[in-house]
Amino acid sequence: MVFRTCYQIEIPKHRLSSRDRAFYAFFAFFALFASFLFLSRLSVTPFTSLPPSTRNRYCIFMVRIILKPKEDIRIRRGHPWIYDNEIAGVEGEPEPGAEVEVCDARGLHVGYAFFNPKSKIRARMYSRTAKKADEEFFIRAFEAAWKWRKFCFGEPAIEKRMSLRLVYGEADSVPGLIVDGFVGIPKLEDSNAGDKLSSAQRAALASPKGLWLSVQFLSLGVEVHKAEILKALRSVFNPDGIAERSDAPVRALEGLPDLVGVLWGSVPERIVIEENGALFEIDLLSGQKTGWFLDQRANRAAAAKYVSRAPWADSPNKAIGARVLDVFCNQGGFSVLAAKAGAASVLAVDSSRDALALLRENAALNNVSDRITAVEANAFDYLRDLEKMGQRFDLIILDPPAFAKNRTALEGARRGYKELNLRAMHLLERGGILVTFSCSHWFSPEMFDAVLADAAFDSNRRLRILEERTQDLDHPILSGYDESRYLKCRIVQVV
Ligand code: SAH
Repeated sequence: MVFRTCYQIEIPKHRLSSRDRAFYAFFAFFALFASFLFLSRLSVTPFTSLPPSTRNRYCIFMVRIILKPKEDIRIRRGHPWIYDNEIAGVEGEPEPGAEVEVCDARGLHVGYAFFNPKSKIRARMYSRTAKKADEEFFIRAFEAAWKWRKFCFGEPAIEKRMSLRLVYGEADSVPGLIVDGFVGIPKLEDSNAGDKLSSAQRAALASPKGLWLSVQFLSLGVEVHKAEILKALRSVFNPDGIAERSDAPVRALEGLPDLVGVLWGSVPERIVIEENGALFEIDLLSGQKTGWFLDQRANRAAAAKYVSRAPWADSPNKAIGARVLDVFCNQGGFSVLAAKAGAASVLAVDSSRDALALLRENAALNNVSDRITAVEANAFDYLRDLEKMGQRFDLIILDPPAFAKNRTALEGARRGYKELNLRAMHLLERGGILVTFSCSHWFSPEMFDAVLADAAFDSNRRLRILEERTQDLDHPILSGYDESRYLKCRIVQVV
């Protein structure tokens, strides 16, 4: 009885009206539906197949990739690439090229990346904080890149008088996007070269000029965001025209076809730009890469300095000026500057007929045609022939294309660099200057220095290292991202 009294609870007798019941039923249904949506978001993935530690509560509204344990360390230290074998799982079904969140093995946020299911580089980081890569994001990235160039190059950049690499892919937080900005004037159809560049045109080069962009979309992420990127480029740089040069072999690794053409505005067939005080005619749509190798700007000036300095003691040509050999000369960036600096003769060698045609135009534009001889040849064969003929030079420039495109090609690359440098050392007068490059990031500075030492040993010469250089500052080098440190330049005296 006692128990009974204890449990006698008075149940209030108010009843729900049918309207209230309908309201509560609707509310309950809505809550159920919302939780279903929320939970389904979590379980789209093989979520249960992931280790329990990866099931976290952070940023569950975005498609994410979960890294294997410790794979986040390299990424957090600044490397922007995530390879397929570093991923533990993918939550959701990311669209190819779309933004994904990257989390470490504990499920903690690392950053945001573009996803490519077809590439071995499965994701490329673009930001730690910006979830969406929309027009706003690209505007911010381009403005930051522009600010850096203005800081590095000062007035000429600020006043847009200088041709520059404006965006350098990963190093400017836009993975796979290269934007070269060429400041100059369109070349008139009837002005062939040199003296035919009218004085009006020469004067135009001294005042504000046009700006044309040559752009490479080298990853799927930037390819699918092309429309936003174009708008952002126009808004930040205000160019006169934009050319697309998406015809680099790396596009195939991203599952993309080659694309070349005018993307926006108009792009003249030829543009005359100014660099290091010399004029160069370039072809944005059919020249190599983006039309001109901007990374060598400062190295060209550095090499030209040695023409007039003539540090070689025993050269019979000392009195009349240096004899220069420019191997892999392309359109004559080094040759023209060396000739302008007072070289007695420049022998310019390249295997590309089109590049040599432009070199001849460039020699004429700068009134140094009489001192530059262009030769179409395979450099390896031609250097051997020169040696057989007993030719000698005071300054040699070796700027070959990248010999090592991946790790497996390193041994072949080493042999190639060794042979070139050995032959150059044979061709140099004692005391002559060798300006030698490797632009393959796989081939480390240590490997390059070892090759030079080997070549010196084999040719019974000693090297005095005058300068150790790299690419110009509009190709920024990021710590933690070795691929951005690709160009090695050594200026050595061969004694
Ligand atoms: N020095 C140039 C850039 C060189 S790029 C500059 O300052 O702009 C590399 C050049 O090597 C290209 O012009 C290419 O046509 C040329 N090349 C590639 N393989 C070659 C070979 N086996 N022999 C001669 N030239 C070669």
